[in-house]
Amino acid sequence: MKLQNFINGRFSPPASGAYFDDIGPATGDVIAEVPDSDARDVDAAVRAATAAFPGWSRTPVAQRSKLLIRLADLIEKNLEELARLESHDSGKTVSLPRRQDIPRAVANLRFFATAILHDATEAHPTDGVALNYTLRQPMGVAGLISPWTLPLYLLTWKVAPAIAAGNTCVAKPSELTPLTANRLAELSLEAGIPAGVINIVHGLGAKAGDALTVHPKVPLISFTGGTVTGAKVATAAAPHFKKVSLELGGKNPNLIFADADLTEAVNTSIRSSFSNQGEICLCGSRIFVERSIHDRFVEQFVEATMKMRIGDPSDESTDVGALISAAHLDKVSGYVDLAREEGGSILSGGKRVDRPGFFFEPTVITGLGCDCRVLQEEIFGPVVTITPFDGEDEAVSFANSTRYGLSASLWTRDLQRAHRVASALDAGTVWINCWLLRDLRVPFGGMKESGVGREGGFESLRFFTEAKNVCVKL
Ligand code: NAD
Repeated sequence: MKLQNFINGRFSPPASGAYFDDIGPATGDVIAEVPDSDARDVDAAVRAATAAFPGWSRTPVAQRSKLLIRLADLIEKNLEELARLESHDSGKTVSLPRRQDIPRAVANLRFFATAILHDATEAHPTDGVALNYTLRQPMGVAGLISPWTLPLYLLTWKVAPAIAAGNTCVAKPSELTPLTANRLAELSLEAGIPAGVINIVHGLGAKAGDALTVHPKVPLISFTGGTVTGAKVATAAAPHFKKVSLELGGKNPNLIFADADLTEAVNTSIRSSFSNQGEICLCGSRIFVERSIHDRFVEQFVEATMKMRIGDPSDESTDVGALISAAHLDKVSGYVDLAREEGGSILSGGKRVDRPGFFFEPTVITGLGCDCRVLQEEIFGPVVTITPFDGEDEAVSFANSTRYGLSASLWTRDLQRAHRVASALDAGTVWINCWLLRDLRVPFGGMKESGVGREGGFESLRFFTEAKNVCVKL
């Protein structure tokens, strides 16, 4: 399969004529050729998006809403095919996109399609002498850069609010998982979304992604990816004074207090550690357990880990699929070697699986302190550490001991403590006695080096619009 860019409602080859390989993680085989786009392709897409902006931004809200809902319906109609493509492209088990990624992509589109129908704005009457009111206007061409972790879900998380608010967009999906973005382009045509409103330029981050970040006609960039890349995007965008939203990496803690429902805490921590092979930014990769239940927790957790089935992602019964790439497999495996060097004990897993593709066993590590690199750096694989703590203060200080602050999950039956600890944690999202329970209305984003800005609900609509105050003398 040879993919093309989607510019101005048409599929077109990259200006360079060059392509690179898309590798299927479960086999290591080439599954598609991806356009190696450069600044010329980005510029063509930005020109198409700029030309489409006046018409789209003036399209009545009800009509924009209808088109987004049509796109959502088409994704839903093609759910099975999209789930299979996502699994094939990223190595994730097919059951996950079937019940999570693709339904959530549908929900993103429906949510923002209907949110704009209920949008309102503020007025500030000034002492009977003036009336101030706020216009929130679309800004033009939105640059959207997304990762390979939840490809269609995170792409629609950006496309939906951007175009619902009246912007047009140029999206640069991850070069590692371009397949569902390509289908999204086809479905947007079928939905009747006008040419130029959604443009998709495939390619490498340092080339196509950077060209989008620095393009002078793109006033805002919504980026989701790693913290190191986020710093590059922020640096490149700064001289252009672009509005930038950065959703970055994490090293999220799970805190399990002695009064927690142990079975629930174990079962949910298994999910939060190993879902999508641990390749979700919100995965909990550091588990801290109150000392009195630590050994029991470890025993049950390791037992459950050992029961996980690793293998063919297209098999419904598989729990753990393949990692995204050979390079990522090396990185994850390197961190497990480092854990051994740092004095950790590997209680289960710890090695590559002997089969084609990029598989790594779900791995549980104990015996490491918070200052070890394994507890400080984002590994982003099926690797979790378990560490005992004594008391609430220590739990909070362990949890807050990294440069990240994306999410945290805490387990206790003590209501007061739950609220107290939630308030003390450095995290943009805190889950109490649950994990990954999402509500699209709530603010989402990270503290510290996990990001800048918030998306979700009206936060997204505000990001994708510019506030303008109008003052009328009475
Ligand atoms: P990445 O940073 O390597 O790439 C993300 C995107 O940025 C890709 O499309 C890539 O092509 C592009 N890119 C790379 N270099 C660029 C540059 N110089 N200029 C512009 N664009 C560039 O991240 P990844 O490996 O695809 O994803 C994994 C990372 O994403 C993890 O760190 C994970 O925690 C993070 N993530 C965060 C969230 C969140 O909501 N906070 C969600 C998912 C993933």
